[in-house]
Amino acid sequence: MSQDKSQNVQQFPPFNDKNEEAPDIGGGLPVIEYWAKHTISPEGPKLWKTLLHHSACLSCSWGTGGQKGGFTNEDGEKLQRCMKSVEAISAEIKPGIKQQFFEQQSITELQKLTSMEADRLGRLSFPMILRAGKSHYERISWSEIYQIAEAGFRKTPERVASYSSGRSSNEAAFLLQLMMRSLGSNNLADCSDLCHAPSTYGLQQMFGTKTSIVSLESLNEADCVVLSGANSAYNHPRLMNELIKLRERGGKIIVINPIMEIGLVKFGSPAFPIKSLIPGSDIASLYLQLIPGSDSVLFTGIQKALIETGNIKTEFLQAYTEGWEAVVENARSISWETITEICGVSQAEIEAAAAIISNASCVVFGWAMGITQHQNGVDNVYSIGNTALMSGNIGREGAGVMPVRGHSNVQGFGSMGVTSQKIKKGLQEALERLLGRSLSTVKGYDTRSLIEAADEHKVDTLICLGGNLYGANPDSTQAKRALGNIETIIYLATKPNLGHFHGLAKQNTIVIPVLNRFENPHKTTVESGNNFVRLNDEGKTHLKNADLIPEVEFLTELAHRIHGEYPVDWRQLRDTKFIRKLIAQTVPGYEKIGTIDETKEEFTIGGRIINTPHFPTENGKAKMFVTLLPQLTLPDRKAFGASEQTQGIVVALITARSYAQHNTVVYQIEDKYRGMPHRNCILMNRIDLEKAGLKEHQRVTVKGNAGKLENVEIIHGAVRPGAALMFYPEVNVIFNAQVDKRAGTPAYKRVPVFVYAN
Ligand code: SF4
Repeated sequence: MSQDKSQNVQQFPPFNDKNEEAPDIGGGLPVIEYWAKHTISPEGPKLWKTLLHHSACLSCSWGTGGQKGGFTNEDGEKLQRCMKSVEAISAEIKPGIKQQFFEQQSITELQKLTSMEADRLGRLSFPMILRAGKSHYERISWSEIYQIAEAGFRKTPERVASYSSGRSSNEAAFLLQLMMRSLGSNNLADCSDLCHAPSTYGLQQMFGTKTSIVSLESLNEADCVVLSGANSAYNHPRLMNELIKLRERGGKIIVINPIMEIGLVKFGSPAFPIKSLIPGSDIASLYLQLIPGSDSVLFTGIQKALIETGNIKTEFLQAYTEGWEAVVENARSISWETITEICGVSQAEIEAAAAIISNASCVVFGWAMGITQHQNGVDNVYSIGNTALMSGNIGREGAGVMPVRGHSNVQGFGSMGVTSQKIKKGLQEALERLLGRSLSTVKGYDTRSLIEAADEHKVDTLICLGGNLYGANPDSTQAKRALGNIETIIYLATKPNLGHFHGLAKQNTIVIPVLNRFENPHKTTVESGNNFVRLNDEGKTHLKNADLIPEVEFLTELAHRIHGEYPVDWRQLRDTKFIRKLIAQTVPGYEKIGTIDETKEEFTIGGRIINTPHFPTENGKAKMFVTLLPQLTLPDRKAFGASEQTQGIVVALITARSYAQHNTVVYQIEDKYRGMPHRNCILMNRIDLEKAGLKEHQRVTVKGNAGKLENVEIIHGAVRPGAALMFYPEVNVIFNAQVDKRAGTPAYKRVPVFVYAN
């Protein structure tokens, strides 16, 4: 195990002044304590039963479990289950919420709950409705639900919409889009619109594919990983095992992140209990703490350094790419002064990164929402792809581009056609054959445009398959108002969330309790971010006397009532094996799903992993794009209505999850690893505090362009000066984010705010 600091390019990351509460390593013993607490608690037996069930992990899209068992990944490696997974299961095995609870708690009371309190109420266990003018949710019969839902979806196609999260199965996703497209609606908003849509868009433009082109097996061949804008130490913990192994075999890791995330410096992994868990393993060889939003410029700097040292693969570019000359010329012509001023990283550090890349044999470029959630998110993705191509790190084993996705089946939803964006030609043609007509050409609503349209009274009916549309959107005030203009909203969920209490429809808000991934009466499948499809076995719910429904059953019945037997016998599809047959016939690369019931053979989707420099683009070449310099000037304090006398500072706020949170679901109040004791904190650099005359633990107001949060506690931490961090979804109330025009994703990672003394 490489514990030798001399192997690291820096002794420490540049802005490493963390607070005293933050630990010296990520992961480590707290992970084991958490496991122990939960697995030997009264819920322990249920938890173990679920962990051992043959179904995929509910949480992140790195993916584990399935037919190989709960602790095994696609390469057969054992001990592959993290704390995040336990957090997710623990929430799902809670008791059902009693009817009496909703009879007693008015909607006003429910709206006072925090995200964590809402989640801890337990499992939804009966269908309920909040009718216009009523103060309480009440139980509703299934016949009335179908009556309201059917009437709602008989409106004109442009006025109905869906929203979904990656919690559900491929089968439910396929049904949802088929039902909507059979109506003639492309309004298939999805949570990925808010996170990795720039990856999907950018990769399609460059490589003709929308997902990672690297398999887990291939990652094991890499000797360098460049990890940008991803806090994998919490959000994809098992990726850390891969990074530890890479360092162990002498490889190097470049981390690019404005915040020093302690787990990306040193991580103690329970998968290596002796050598890693307590001492921690070195992760970053080089940590670049750039100005938020400047990633494309930093990567242009890396390209420039590669050019200047004669380390670009010109023959490779000539043979396998197009547009490369302009990209090379762009990097050559931008001055080092411009690059370093915009990204805030020194020329020496950038050159060190380029040297690591050029000295490595096989480099994988991974990223997450720190790259995509910017106004120039697509350019950020292009700049990574350009760097990978210029250094010849595409189209062979051990190298490539690897967006690291969020929710466990978020990628599967895209593959099944749940998107408002243009779908792949093969899928479109197959769906058109099935429908016997062309798909609607009316542009569908993505998540942001759905909220905008609802705000303009253009949406009548909305079905939400999981997720928290209200909580995930910026400008919570607008989201609430917009959802309030929709006549009928139907939420399908396993547990309550704030969306069910704040995202209320004008007439009828219906909450339908559904079975989760390990409880369904039929098998289902999910797709990991590494393009691996897992099969989930049937299961049973622990809830007694509950009135739950499989999502597939609800969708097939609703579709049957709307469409009859067009274009399929919907009721037959209640048995999910028939959906898998349809998927095999319609979704390119998914052919093997047609026989998975018999073979139980989980598989990597055909055509996704690219290990030769031939790309599924029209001419077989990768396309390179010049990226523009982003405008990253922060507004003056006057833009926030503040006078010169007000003690405060304008910073670029990064909105992020805590180390105890999955998307909008909060599991614990405290963020141990950043030393943030509660949710209403702002993490700032000491230099900024001194500049503004503010002090640690002082209570301040944080103001954005749509509102403010008061009584926010300042915590000093290892974030670069000029940037700060707060937690979403709570902070979403203060800003109305700019969006990347090509992908529709809001700039959650660079929100100008004014922080001032109360
Ligand atoms: S890394 Fe992701 S998929 Fe693996 S166990 Fe953890 S949450 Fe589940």
